[in-house]
Amino acid sequence: MRLNKMVRTDCAICGSENNELLWKKTRPTGLLDKIYLSICRDCGFVFQNPRLSLEATRKYYLQEFDQQNRKGIFSNQLSDSGKTKKKLMFDRIKPFLCHNGELNCLDIGAGTGYFLKIFREDLQERSKLRLFAIEPSCHCQKLLEKAGIYILSDDVDSDWKEAGTKYDVIVMRHVLEHFYDPFASLKNISKCLKKDGFIYLAVPNLLHLKPRFYGHITLAHLSYFSVPILKNLISRCDLTAISLNNDTKEIWCILKPALQQEVLPVSAKNAFIENKQFVRSRQRNELLLRLKERAKNYIKYALSFVKKVR
Ligand SMILES: [Zn+2]
Repeated sequence: MRLNKMVRTDCAICGSENNELLWKKTRPTGLLDKIYLSICRDCGFVFQNPRLSLEATRKYYLQEFDQQNRKGIFSNQLSDSGKTKKKLMFDRIKPFLCHNGELNCLDIGAGTGYFLKIFREDLQERSKLRLFAIEPSCHCQKLLEKAGIYILSDDVDSDWKEAGTKYDVIVMRHVLEHFYDPFASLKNISKCLKKDGFIYLAVPNLLHLKPRFYGHITLAHLSYFSVPILKNLISRCDLTAISLNNDTKEIWCILKPALQQEVLPVSAKNAFIENKQFVRSRQRNELLLRLKERAKNYIKYALSFVKKVR
């Protein structure tokens, strides 16, 4: 499938048109298409620009995404590390849950529903639990339905909010970076929280991406967050992080509606410099790794040639 209809976009966080191209990168899986990483000069947000049109992005999710990024869903067998991750996530969320009475839990990007099933196993005796999912994959939707999980929509930006249901907890694990407009989507999602409800949000940390970038810079990841950038987005969505942590794998936080807009401690200029330097250093590393690999292959070829001549 040729996915080369690229469109330009402004910064999704501050709305600025003032951005510069950091890296034009060939997709490892398809030589025809490129990924363009740009940085907003006004707030330091790193994002794909230009990127696929909305229509092409939808096609990509329907036709390519599952095969390229999560083949495991077809066997419905979660790996041991996947199970550990889901359990860890539940342990992070549980202390913030109010156990009594009705508990509405929504998982956005629910996959096969493994995480919601952990909720059910742990909480159904103490709470009147209702489980909801938003999930684009047709394959996963069938599994969710089979598990008795109510599917609200296949698209986070559709009109599912109009049903008026309010949620105690909304889980967004590694989905925000896939959203076409993370600001508008997060802001709309936050309006569906109950008064004491919260969002569990986790995203990959730009500043901890591994030296070999290919696994992280993918067509599916439209946004690349560092802590200051994520804090900026949270504040602009009128949310506050009552807990925010980051490790080498991800940034994760518990978000509630803010009573007043927060004053951010880190200036946009710092975020711009830090993010730009980081991406540039990774770009250099990747170039070096490629050159090393190429040199190794040449040496191997030369040695085999010498052996043949002898
Ligand atoms: Zn910006």
